[in-house]
Amino acid sequence: MSVIDRQEWDVVVVGAGGAGLRAAVEARERGARTAVICKSLFGKAHTVMAEGGIAAAMGNVNPHDSWQVHFRDTMRGGKFLNQWRMAELHAREAPDRVWELETWGALFDRTKDGRISQRNFGGHEYPRLAHVGDRTGLELIRTLQQKVVSLQQEDEKETGDYESRLKVFQECTVTRVLKQGDRVCGVFAYERESGRFFVLQAPAVVIATGGIGKSFKVTSNSWEYTGDGHALALLAGAPLLNMEFVQFHPTGMVWPPSVKGILVTESVRGDGGVLRNSEGKRFMFDYVPDVFKEKYAESEEEGDRWYDDPDHNRRPPELLPRDEVARAINSEVKAGRGSPHGGVFLDVSTRMPAEVIRRRLPSMYHQFKELADVDITAEAMEVGPTCHYVMGGIAVDSDTAAARGVEGLYAAGEVAGGMHGSNRLGGNSLSDLLVFGRRAGLHAARYATGLAERPHVDDGQIDSAAAEALRPFSAEGPRPGEQDAGPPENPYALHQELQQTMNDLVGIIRREGEMEQALRKLAQLRVRARKAGVEGHRQFNPGWHLALDLRNMLLVSECVARAALERTESRGGHTREDHPTMDRAWRRVNLLCRLADPTGGLAATDPVRGQISLTRETTPPVRPDLLALFEKEELVKYLTEEELYE
Ligand code: FAD
Repeated sequence: MSVIDRQEWDVVVVGAGGAGLRAAVEARERGARTAVICKSLFGKAHTVMAEGGIAAAMGNVNPHDSWQVHFRDTMRGGKFLNQWRMAELHAREAPDRVWELETWGALFDRTKDGRISQRNFGGHEYPRLAHVGDRTGLELIRTLQQKVVSLQQEDEKETGDYESRLKVFQECTVTRVLKQGDRVCGVFAYERESGRFFVLQAPAVVIATGGIGKSFKVTSNSWEYTGDGHALALLAGAPLLNMEFVQFHPTGMVWPPSVKGILVTESVRGDGGVLRNSEGKRFMFDYVPDVFKEKYAESEEEGDRWYDDPDHNRRPPELLPRDEVARAINSEVKAGRGSPHGGVFLDVSTRMPAEVIRRRLPSMYHQFKELADVDITAEAMEVGPTCHYVMGGIAVDSDTAAARGVEGLYAAGEVAGGMHGSNRLGGNSLSDLLVFGRRAGLHAARYATGLAERPHVDDGQIDSAAAEALRPFSAEGPRPGEQDAGPPENPYALHQELQQTMNDLVGIIRREGEMEQALRKLAQLRVRARKAGVEGHRQFNPGWHLALDLRNMLLVSECVARAALERTESRGGHTREDHPTMDRAWRRVNLLCRLADPTGGLAATDPVRGQISLTRETTPPVRPDLLALFEKEELVKYLTEEELYE
């Protein structure tokens, strides 16, 4: 094996989106030498694509807002399956995190009296999303990058080296978290451009790699969302929590086919856009579920009045949580009342003057004009559900963001599970990144700098990580224990089959037989993926990169399918046609996925039987003072008699 570069750091952060950068800033400010490593270019994380805003109960537009109301909305949105302590910390700390961004140079849109403006979004009782037009994620990342640079400038003054305490490794992909015993000791990675391997040794690793959308065919997610962090944690021995909950955003583009899935921000509805079917009907009034009946308008007139007088009217049902709207659109299309290309109509052109649309929704205006030749100031958009966000993720401690069962491993952002329960409210991701990114960086730094003795990376682990990464180059030879390897498989063809399988069989509406079929198909794909082969060399070879990503997408897809099959109810981002109602008894159940082979090996696992073992766990009861924030009549809809009695 060739000699592999090693570098020593205190904390390694995998991922440079909002969560990763906020963690890195915190860790460096707490005195830990911190490395950030990211698969794409620095500044091109998924967070950049966030449009609508950051949810934080600042009360700038409606003074009745408070952390308690935000907590309530988040729990309702997640159908009470949220890790309630995370939801509490998130609601309490989000306003400070937004203010902090302003002190670091972010410039949010303002109210007339100069305060940070806040907009309406689905499931939020008051206008709550701090925003920069519909390009909020860009400003968030720009600000955090600027903060990184300013810390590097401070370090240069003191040490003569910009990167002495905070260094970014861009276009580098981590393929394994390394361990000594139960403790983390670093990461193994390759540089995408040169194919060179290297190791970053560190006693603390923060995983902040975002989501899993590229396992599905129709998705709003970009190329790097292949579930790497979820898989890295599983392989390191940490469990994933409630992976059945995948959010299908109700409004993705449906036409032309090349852009199918690209997001149409919820701000369009927040700012007054309405959904209509092919008969011109505002159909969402027919889809308000019982748990939300008292909170939403019963007529179009009341819904329309709400935009000007929210204190005396109820909000329109277009602003229900995303899972409800996505299911409603799905039903309308299935009933034959869809738009020409299989979606429904989202209309803002009859609701606002053209210049207001262009000012408030500039990206949407350009997106539709350039990609679909549709002028949204004059005509309706065609939209339909798209795979958008994963609520399930690495099981973490709510306060410290420490991953369960692996000392020194932390997780924050979309890759971490629990905060959003069964369904995330719009805007709650950007605030989640900031709140728990900070917490992960803080606790990782404390842990790493407080250790008396550091774990050591042994050569054997590095050699096997390198051998695993090189396997696609020798795919034609038989593997140990396999009789006939057959010809190599094309990673692109495997990826397409995986995406089609997940879209068709574990998508927005799920059925037992189809999920069993998906698991059988995943087993076949796993066997074939072992033979995924590539030609050429290691210098920027996208086929090779995809062959390595396949391991992660297959692991994560199996978690989603197994957990979805196990949960025999419908809740949030998990809809079972064969179990169509929410079951209060299931509210107390978390599903945990672990690697079936606890040593973290994949080769030893029987590929057909599957790589994941699933267990149930009872959720801890919600703290009484938090429960007291709800009316008893509302709690009855979610909690069992037993819990209510307790
Ligand atoms: P990301 O920002 O995706 O960062 C992940 C990082 O990990 C990247 O740097 C990536 O390169 C790196 N990475 C991944 N795998 C590896 C690996 N193996 N090795 C090294 N690096 C790796 N949420 C809101 O709250 N409000 C909104 O308005 C909003 N709008 C959205 C609009 C769109 C179009 C989309 C798709 C999402 C939107 N969301 C929104 C959701 C939100 O943007 C994401 O959930 C959030 O940005 C995720 O941030 P993150 O830091 O967890 O991950």
